[in-house]
Amino acid sequence: MKAIVIGGGIGGACAAIALKRFGIETAVYEAVKEIKPVGAAISIWPNGVKCLNYLGMKEPLRKLGGQMRFMAYKDYQQGQTMTRFSMDPLIQSVGEQPYPVARAELQSMLLDTYGRDEVQFGKRVTHVEESADSVTAWFDDGSSATGDVLIAADGTHSVIRQHVLGYATERRYAGYVNWNGLVEIDESIAPADQWTTFVGEGKRVSLMPVSDNRFYFFFDVPLPKGLPEDRATVRDDLQRYFAGWAEPVQKLISLINPDTTNRIEIHDIEPFMQLVKGRIALLGDSGHSTTPDIGQGGCAAMEDAVVLANVLQTNSLGIEDALLRYQEKRAYRVKDLVLKARKRCDVTHGKDMAVTGQWYEDLKTETGERILSGMCETILGGPLE
Ligand code: FAD
Repeated sequence: MKAIVIGGGIGGACAAIALKRFGIETAVYEAVKEIKPVGAAISIWPNGVKCLNYLGMKEPLRKLGGQMRFMAYKDYQQGQTMTRFSMDPLIQSVGEQPYPVARAELQSMLLDTYGRDEVQFGKRVTHVEESADSVTAWFDDGSSATGDVLIAADGTHSVIRQHVLGYATERRYAGYVNWNGLVEIDESIAPADQWTTFVGEGKRVSLMPVSDNRFYFFFDVPLPKGLPEDRATVRDDLQRYFAGWAEPVQKLISLINPDTTNRIEIHDIEPFMQLVKGRIALLGDSGHSTTPDIGQGGCAAMEDAVVLANVLQTNSLGIEDALLRYQEKRAYRVKDLVLKARKRCDVTHGKDMAVTGQWYEDLKTETGERILSGMCETILGGPLE
């Protein structure tokens, strides 16, 4: 069996690693010459970590991951702690710890694990064609690649999605802008072993430790789409949106490097239940685009990769049958993740400020139990124990 993987991002790379490990011949085609991930870092929750462990990356992942032992919410004006608790009960319940990692390093680890030289860069798919016993991808340089199965891991702007669904999907603006980047850890802003989030006014400022003494930071602000803001205005923009916020937030704004701070308008796509057509499977953001509010988009792509490689092991009824089993195992799971993230997004970002205000009040009496049990449920819904 030969698998054609379109896209060398988190989903495509994990799929290629998984298929190769199971002895399936793979060829990976990536549109760009050099992958530049959209964000600075990513939190890999234990369901994603288990997938990377399963795919043989246990040791390298531990070297990249930050140690996030505690979680805390802080009041935006005074910086007072609303709640702070250990993440140990979560780790004990699910059997693995979360790892926040710098994206460029994650991407490098994935490509090195697969074999960077085996990825064909600069190959942008324009369309795909299926016949009774094969599938072909056509690239914008006029070349093509044919295989038995095609994995469409071409991201949220997927061109293959429409072929699979038979209709075009719209990305839905989630109503907020996210700025993110990396800074050296400064414990006057937040403890080095804690996921710290300042909340107020439907906005948030968050810090997570990654390796090499760095914080992954992000700022979220509910805003209209299409404002004329970019890296050139980032420090002024953040100072304006976070005027009156606590001293650690002001310090963080003064420390960020505008040249490496990303500004992203956050979107998702209404979930759909069809993930496959014939010999083609959607995987990662092409099949389910979520807001990052529960940090599960990339983890879900890792889960997809593991499940896909597993179902393709049993293909005596044909590839189409194996892909239908992939769809059956994944469609409800990924729909649930997208909708959970959307719900959390709305509460966190003041879609209804009365609801958001109640959440702030609830945080003051939070012991960790409610938050961790919600996370636990999400994590345990993954394919690996
Ligand atoms: P991508 O990473 O987008 O990769 C798609 C690849 O396909 C790209 O390399 C692209 O160049 C290539 N491609 C596109 N079109 C073509 C084409 N026509 N032909 C060939 N190649 C093509 N997830 C988490 O798990 N935890 C988090 O903490 C988290 N935080 C996030 C924070 C932010 C601000 C954002 C925006 C997302 C976050 N996510 C997080 C989600 C995560 O980034 C995505 O779910 C993940 O990157 C999806 O991987 P993918 O491979 O499907 O898509």
